[in-house]
Amino acid sequence: MDSSIIGKIEKAKQYSEQKDRVNITSFAATFQGNHDQYDVRFEDGAWRCQCHFFASREVCSHTMALQRILEEMLTKQPETAPTN
Ligand SMILES: [Zn+2]
Repeated sequence: MDSSIIGKIEKAKQYSEQKDRVNITSFAATFQGNHDQYDVRFEDGAWRCQCHFFASREVCSHTMALQRILEEMLTKQPETAPTN
């Protein structure tokens, strides 16, 4: 392995501990729920999920779970930004 890639791997390890460097602007995922698999998306700072609960509430266990997993990396929206 050449020395330049070794340096990049070291840097990648450091970066991976600093999640605030990453700002997710959009992504798509499949979410395996207890009963079914759902298509969950984050686009333009807004969540979408194809489950029935989301259709009526615009939030659901799938989007909230992904928010917890990705919290530091999601593009901050005024309504979800900390109020301190
Ligand atoms: Zn859902």
